[in-house]
Amino acid sequence: MRPAKPVQRTASVTRLGPGENGIMYIGAHVSAAGGLPKAVDRAVDIGAEAMQIFVSSPRAWRFKAPEDALVEKFREASEAAGMGPTVFHGIYLCALGSPDEALVERSIESLTSHLQTAERCGALGVIFHPASHRGAGFEAVLDQFVDGVKRVLDASPGDALLMLENSAGAGDHIGSKFSELGAIISAVGSDRLHVCLDTQHAWASGYELNNADKLDEMLAEFDREIGLDRLSAIHANDSMRPLGSAVDRHDNIGEGEIGVDGFKLIMSRPALAEVPMYLEVPGFEKGGPDAQNVSILKKAREEAGVAG
Ligand SMILES: [Zn+2]
Ligand SMILES: [Zn+2]
Repeated sequence: MRPAKPVQRTASVTRLGPGENGIMYIGAHVSAAGGLPKAVDRAVDIGAEAMQIFVSSPRAWRFKAPEDALVEKFREASEAAGMGPTVFHGIYLCALGSPDEALVERSIESLTSHLQTAERCGALGVIFHPASHRGAGFEAVLDQFVDGVKRVLDASPGDALLMLENSAGAGDHIGSKFSELGAIISAVGSDRLHVCLDTQHAWASGYELNNADKLDEMLAEFDREIGLDRLSAIHANDSMRPLGSAVDRHDNIGEGEIGVDGFKLIMSRPALAEVPMYLEVPGFEKGGPDAQNVSILKKAREEAGVAG
């Protein structure tokens, strides 16, 4: 397995990435309602060590770039709280593989705004869903998809990463198999295109990650098709649905099919030991990622003998 490649750090901001500090950060998706700095308070409140946020409504195209003063406040608050890498999650409407040209253009625009904002905020990068090929087939939309990604990267200079998230495999969704993500990455040819592995989506698409042998097979496949040096974030979610269901239904850690022992196993793998994790779970009180889920993962990390 290849060693993790550290993400470049800018002088003015802490941009921690995989492979830095030897720490596995346990983060969570938190709301940025009321402004980016508020997200830091919410992360601190639940004990999260890193955060994922939406920088605009995930179900609308409208995007308003945060003002410099707010960005500055966010960076100061993150640093004061000792936050690990921040990631942004792109909006759900993006579909670079769509036959609708206008939709593709808006998707490129949206991802570009997000990636430029990530750069300004010192975030690790932007995670997005490859979405659907709308029945055309993966091969048929590959060139178009690759062209879109290249345009986003070209329009967003810097070192913030663009991260493809593996999908659960429903319908015509791209990226439930690592070979598809790998094909996109090699065709784009940029060292800024990485992957976020969602444990629930992997489970739904048939990767049995709570079985040691299957987990190691999955990691070997990831390394072969993509390269483990491109694995820069993990969405830590248990699964409400059975293995291979192709259904995207996140559960609280320990309440689903993967189980706490499954997460302990995942955390124990050296290749994953320095990849930041972000919870996207419903929450025990249905309010989203909470202190209880964070503490379950922290305990699992401790029992897996990983540095935190
Ligand atoms: Zn996602
Ligand atoms: Zn996810």
